[in-house]
Amino acid sequence: MKRELILIGSVAAPGIAIGPALICRPSAFNGDMSDRMAARLFSPHAEIEQLDLAIAATDAVLAQVEETLRADGKYEEAHIFIAHRMILHDPILRARTVELVENAGKSAAAAIVAAGEEQVEQLLALSDSHLRSRAADVRDLVTQVRRMLMGEQALGERLKQPSVIVAYDIGPSELMSMPRENLLGIALAAGGPTAHVTILARALGIPAVVGLGSAILETTFSDTLLALDGGSGQVVVTPSDVTLERMRAQADLEAARLEEFRDQRDLATVTRDGLAIKLLANVSSVAEARQSYEWGAAGIGLLRTEMLFLDRPMLPDEEEQLALYQAVVNEISGHPAVARTLDLGGDKYLPGSAPHEANPFLGWRAIRIGLSRPEAFMPQLRALLRAGAERDVRILLPMISTVQEIRQVRALIQQALAELAVERKAHTTAPQIGVMIEVPAAALMADSLAPEVDFFSIGTNDLVQYTLACDRTNQHVAHLYQPLEPAVLRLIMMVITAAHRSGRTVTVCGEMAGDAKLTALLIGMGVDELSCSPASLPLIRNAIRLTDAAAAQKTAQAAVAALSLEEVCNILSG
Ligand code: PEP
Ligand code: MG
Repeated sequence: MKRELILIGSVAAPGIAIGPALICRPSAFNGDMSDRMAARLFSPHAEIEQLDLAIAATDAVLAQVEETLRADGKYEEAHIFIAHRMILHDPILRARTVELVENAGKSAAAAIVAAGEEQVEQLLALSDSHLRSRAADVRDLVTQVRRMLMGEQALGERLKQPSVIVAYDIGPSELMSMPRENLLGIALAAGGPTAHVTILARALGIPAVVGLGSAILETTFSDTLLALDGGSGQVVVTPSDVTLERMRAQADLEAARLEEFRDQRDLATVTRDGLAIKLLANVSSVAEARQSYEWGAAGIGLLRTEMLFLDRPMLPDEEEQLALYQAVVNEISGHPAVARTLDLGGDKYLPGSAPHEANPFLGWRAIRIGLSRPEAFMPQLRALLRAGAERDVRILLPMISTVQEIRQVRALIQQALAELAVERKAHTTAPQIGVMIEVPAAALMADSLAPEVDFFSIGTNDLVQYTLACDRTNQHVAHLYQPLEPAVLRLIMMVITAAHRSGRTVTVCGEMAGDAKLTALLIGMGVDELSCSPASLPLIRNAIRLTDAAAAQKTAQAAVAALSLEEVCNILSG
């Protein structure tokens, strides 16, 4: 009997998966396949013809997947395949492949692999993490074309029994090609929480752990038993009977809990002593908006609009943006939706548009881009105002640092309102405008910002990183990234006090709002609304209903007065 081995990766998609591994080792991607060609008469012309046929056949497969997703209302996921089809038809990739066939005597399969690898190397050399992650997409597509050319069996076809896929990395289209009923879970050596395959796994409800390192490939073989916990980022290789029993019990508990929570979707989000707290959802796609409604959210507290466009080389025009915003709000049956204007920059760019910046999080990001590029910002403001014609669509401004920035945006909104009136296009005439409080300058100026806006939304993800001077994406300073540091709590408290003094509501929409251990603290500090990911809604609803607001207020006061993180933790646990 083998001893169990526990591997820790990054949390990607929650859920428990127990089953045999199906290994997808790094394929012979770099291999030169010209040997195969040497055995027969080499005809560059025939190779190029085969190449174009294989590209067309791959395109047909992708178009089919895109269509299926669209029919299911999964527009966000469908866009991934639009982007993939664009890469597939990249003229530079084809031209280089043809050159390698004609001048280097390579087979079409070897040539596209080599041309693809050249692009992958260029992408991996870039400092922009979003563009770097595109390398996986290029590999995915090249692998598919090569398989078409060589008649190889796709990974999905090998998935004949319920299994946990183990791979260095897989592409979104590979994931989509797998029979869902046999796909128990995914364990990847590479990958990150924002990789496309991760986004898809989460949307499809497939438990996944990514970033496990090469250990997963070194210790696992096909049919090795694995127990994967996507919620904690753990993969147990050859689990013991005790571990299996514990994880099966946990899976049963999670399933039962989910059922129970489903029944609770209509229960009021009111504390034990009668304080109503609005529970909203953070969404990035039409599918997530639908999910949030199914889980009983009282509306969308944060629509990250930039996430709707991240797979595109250019922002969609006003009409297309309008259609997308309408599609999102149509899912929530008349509830309000807070749409945040584009928060590009930092770690999010449209493909091919990342400027070189030494400190992107302190650089040209969010509202700073909008204000310096009004020609790109206006179509979004106009689309949001038009989406608000019949629905309650509110506008939220990201990364505000000064009163001046709010006034500049308001001037643009006034201009957009005037234009829409002249053009006789239906729009809201009294839009609610709020600001994200996520820069310490904004928190310190909260009493001056409050009269300028209708509401505040505290973005704790950024507020923590900027307050503690600690990059939220840098694993070397991850231990310093502590939302419960007294410095952070005191800033949050200042913001709530200032907002309430001006009669403004305060939402928390950062990840703190989705942590049930912090619900009582935030309520005790006076937060009016919590906005979290759809998957966290049931837990937070439950946590609100278990909170005694009066007692929470006392605890919160003590926590805010504490001198250290340790002291805050002691107060909260005691
Ligand atoms: C935040 O900063 O807390 C937030 C909600 O915005 P994002 O995570 O998109 O930066
Ligand atoms: Mg933010």
